[in-house]
Amino acid sequence: MKNDIDRVIFDVIDKTEFINGSYVKSFEYDFSEYQDAKYCVGVGNGTDALEIAIEALGLPANSEILVPANSFIASSEAVTRSGHKVVFCDVNEDDLTISLNSVKKLVNVNTSAIIAVHLYGHPCDMDPLLEFAKQNNLRVIEDCAQAHGALYKGRKVGAIGDIGTFSFYPGKNLGAFGDAGAIVTNDEQLAKMCRMIANHGRTEKYAHQFEGRNSRLDNIQAAILGVKLKYLNEFTETRIKIADKYLAELSDINTITLPTRQKWATQVYHLFVIRVGDRDKLNEFLNKNGVQTGIHYPVSLPKLEAYKHFESNNETVVAEHAATKLLSLPVGEHLNEEEVCRVIKLIRAFYER
Ligand SMILES: *Cc1c(COP(=O)(O)O)cnc(C)c1O
Repeated sequence: MKNDIDRVIFDVIDKTEFINGSYVKSFEYDFSEYQDAKYCVGVGNGTDALEIAIEALGLPANSEILVPANSFIASSEAVTRSGHKVVFCDVNEDDLTISLNSVKKLVNVNTSAIIAVHLYGHPCDMDPLLEFAKQNNLRVIEDCAQAHGALYKGRKVGAIGDIGTFSFYPGKNLGAFGDAGAIVTNDEQLAKMCRMIANHGRTEKYAHQFEGRNSRLDNIQAAILGVKLKYLNEFTETRIKIADKYLAELSDINTITLPTRQKWATQVYHLFVIRVGDRDKLNEFLNKNGVQTGIHYPVSLPKLEAYKHFESNNETVVAEHAATKLLSLPVGEHLNEEEVCRVIKLIRAFYER
């Protein structure tokens, strides 16, 4: 990709077209096509995308928004920063995405929305969630920061609910060369509102309708993303191939719980997360042998220092318990087969000792 990326970066510089440039427009178009959404609004990062999406929905001030307890803090941070109250709910024991049972227990008259995080690249079970949301007059925001291209029953995530948000942080499945994000929706009004919020509440240069903020997608980032988007399907196929290899070759180790892939899901494996009782020991062993791992996430959101003032609703036991066992194995388009085999061999060696 290097030549193409170099070329577009120099083109942006040649044109001195850094803000609201032509690459932003064409990337927004290409990404909306890619995600099967009518509209796409480029923004500064995935956290801003969530904040702006929530704000654009115009929910009653200080209303409750349900957030799954196993996610990155951005999912809950955005709720508080947009003037609402975070209510943590639990995740499913199998796929670790938002639990509808838990949602049902926590909904009350003050609840206005649900954040469905397609965690690790695995889509949430959207149909029953949307059905419940409709019955209870709730809006559904899809946090797709880890799920570019993921499919729920053959449909791309993002515009299945009311509005969806993406991050192009360099480590995501589609990564920029810095911070970047996007919002997708099929609702024209919502898209318009997001664009205005992200650009100082204006429609034209000095026509400010209200106070917004500044969170625009850089033209250089958009140009790079436009090049990389063409490779995303290929990258995703590599991720799935690696995941299939792990699933096949680690399935006989009883002490490992492998990630669940629901029948209706095309998971894009932003992360390949196993659960093991002796997580810290296995982790240390892999690291010592040159295999970089991660833990997503070592502490469930309600247990973070940031939320110590929250009264526990005792509702997030699955997430809390999972946090002690989660271990993310290497996955990504940069890995070759030999490297994946090496990880598998090391894990087998650890358990055969
Ligand atoms: C990365 C991530 C975000 C935040 O995206 P940034 O671009 O880093 O702000 C939000 N939600 C989830 C689930 C993420 O993984």
